[in-house]
Amino acid sequence: MSTPIHCLNYIDGQWQPAQSGETLEDLNPADRREVVATFPRSGAADVEAAVTAARKAYRGWRLVSAPARAEIVFRIGEILRGRKEALAQLMSREMGKTIVEARGDVQEAIDCAFYYAGEGRRLFGQTTPSEMDNKFAMSVRSPVGVCSLITPWNFPVAIPCWKALPALVCGNTVILKPAEDTPACATALIDVFREAGLPAGVANLVHGTGEETGRALVAHPGVDLVSFTGSSVVGAEVASVCGRTHKRVCLEMGGKNAQIVMEDADLELALKGALWGAFGTTGQRCTATSRLILHRDIKQVFTEKLIEQARQLRLGPGIDPNTEVGPLINESQLSRVHEYIEIARQEGLKILLGGEPVRSEELVHGHFFEPTILDEVPPASRLAREEVFGPVVVLMTVDSFEQAVELLNDTPYGLSSSVYTRDVNRAFRAIRDIEAGITYINGPTTGAEVHLPFGGVKQTGNGHREAGAAVLDVFSEWKTVYVDF
Ligand code: NAP
Repeated sequence: MSTPIHCLNYIDGQWQPAQSGETLEDLNPADRREVVATFPRSGAADVEAAVTAARKAYRGWRLVSAPARAEIVFRIGEILRGRKEALAQLMSREMGKTIVEARGDVQEAIDCAFYYAGEGRRLFGQTTPSEMDNKFAMSVRSPVGVCSLITPWNFPVAIPCWKALPALVCGNTVILKPAEDTPACATALIDVFREAGLPAGVANLVHGTGEETGRALVAHPGVDLVSFTGSSVVGAEVASVCGRTHKRVCLEMGGKNAQIVMEDADLELALKGALWGAFGTTGQRCTATSRLILHRDIKQVFTEKLIEQARQLRLGPGIDPNTEVGPLINESQLSRVHEYIEIARQEGLKILLGGEPVRSEELVHGHFFEPTILDEVPPASRLAREEVFGPVVVLMTVDSFEQAVELLNDTPYGLSSSVYTRDVNRAFRAIRDIEAGITYINGPTTGAEVHLPFGGVKQTGNGHREAGAAVLDVFSEWKTVYVDF
């Protein structure tokens, strides 16, 4: 067991403990006997200090030219590239993601930095012909102000970058409140920001709990915008506080994503997609495949192969290069997954594989749950409608493509979706008719790229998108300008 990392807040260019001096512990999800990090339990006074610093720094940062702001973001990308392996190892240890996936997480942050560095030289406005003679009309982007960025633990480097980097290029200052389960990744990331040369107060880090620190950062009157990624329950609370306090709010929330496999699909490809989509990152992705909608003609053969391959997945600590499925993030997530399986039993659902926490001697101290497959789950079942956020996938059978799309849409969420078919007409009908922010044809429900819009409909989002040029509309205001001459 290694020595714990002692994380600090970063406010106004200074590393500092919480003003109360209180700290919290972050445990290794693969072995909860190990404390990976300690971090400040920040309260209202720390939030106040961060907001004051961010407001002060905003006065100067908004006046720095966008290409110059972007140059620092480019340096962030370069430093991240140099530290990719170290950050991936830290992430794997801190939150259990397999080392391959952790490298992918850091790579997303690197791609994000280079992409938004380029946006700093674009940040296009528009010129538009005026109705009047001798009048010039245009619209230009200006920053929003101080942004609270509240992030989950499942992409602990990529998601903070998806938010912070476009926010900074647009001229905003930011305060990051990372998840309690990943303080060390957030601290290492902010250290990269510092080293890249961001002026004091432009990017601040305040650790703590959602109930205390997160709530204070959402409600604070000195904050202009809240960008939140997390569960739909917390997102609804964030939205209502932002509504009452007149803040701009961008919400990226849960998913109940489905993969359709039609009778004409390449079954080996669909199987690979299902395994990765359902059990990759231990099912702890907003885009994870939690429903498999299978055409009756291929249902049996597909299911048999799925069970056979899922059974062979190697569980273990993410840091072990042989591991294919890591632990769940914490004790409460382990209980939540277990509770859903109890609900499945009460509902009389058939468990084809898994359904239990792992009790083997070497993994019993971690939050490991067996890859689980449930059969013939009716659309009204809680297992078919609610986000479990674990290695659990439900199977549903259909007789037609139309029925499959109808079933896919029958959920309160609308993030990702996937259809495996060799029929181009079905593929385009799926693109048109599926109610989701993302649709993959012949690919799993996971695998977003940073230069395309990312987000969802229904209870997944509130009309905004992250990533791509679309997020610039979150982090900037349009100003319309008329010039008479
Ligand atoms: P969560 O419990 O909603 O927490 C998200 C963040 O909000 C954490 O930093 C949390 O702090 C904080 N928080 C909790 N209560 C708060 C409150 N009352 N006010 C302000 N902040 C508060 O979600 P999670 O368990 O970390 O993440 C899993 C969820 O995120 C899943 O639903 C998943 O689908 C979703 N997700 C969505 C996307 C997307 O882009 N759509 C991407 C990734 C994940 P603490 O850590 O201290 O509780």
